[in-house]
Amino acid sequence: MKICIDAGHNHSGFDTGATANGLKEQDITFRIALLLQEKLEKAGVNTVMTRKTNTENLGSSVSTSIARRVAISNKNNCDYFVSLHCNAGGGTGTEVLVYKKGGKATQLAEKILTSLTTLLPLQNRGIKEANLGVLRDTDCPAVLVETAFLDHPADAALLQQKEDVFANAVFRGILEYANIPFTPPTDDIKTFLAEKWNLSHPEEVFRLLDTHPYRDTLYQKIYESY
Ligand SMILES: [Zn+2]
Repeated sequence: MKICIDAGHNHSGFDTGATANGLKEQDITFRIALLLQEKLEKAGVNTVMTRKTNTENLGSSVSTSIARRVAISNKNNCDYFVSLHCNAGGGTGTEVLVYKKGGKATQLAEKILTSLTTLLPLQNRGIKEANLGVLRDTDCPAVLVETAFLDHPADAALLQQKEDVFANAVFRGILEYANIPFTPPTDDIKTFLAEKWNLSHPEEVFRLLDTHPYRDTLYQKIYESY
């Protein structure tokens, strides 16, 4: 399976993203894209990035920036296209956009949305149809993840502090959709749990867990329960 990961917007000039609360959409989408790529590659899923570095600008205008992203996915025969964005305009929560509801893209969108709202305290705004170039012109099923609202204080704090959880949520949604089993390394689980449980002395908790005879199974079960 090959996934095209599209870090929404360009670094500078044209097709730049929203800015609010001292954050730039294009920086956040790129960092989440990079984390997502690392997780997918580790799980044996091939990836293609539209923007390969955070300073890269695609195309020479807004429309050619969109066309370039579509062309990269189509040229590489990607199986799925996942575009990452942050929302703005006075709302809160997370939503996933598809061109038309009902197909594979919608099924993938549902898994990603469930994963996002399970792992993060975000309002579920549902799956929405949108006539956007990256969704309409890509040959493969395509979704656009509006992670959270950059101009909402609580959402912005999550985007700033929990990039890895956003990446993890999208990653787990993709794996679940594709029925790919994945056992994360224990260190990843520890990091995840320390954050999830807000542990002030994580080493104490993990010392107890690590001496348990069914240590690996235990970690896996705790991880899967979120
Ligand atoms: Zn955007």
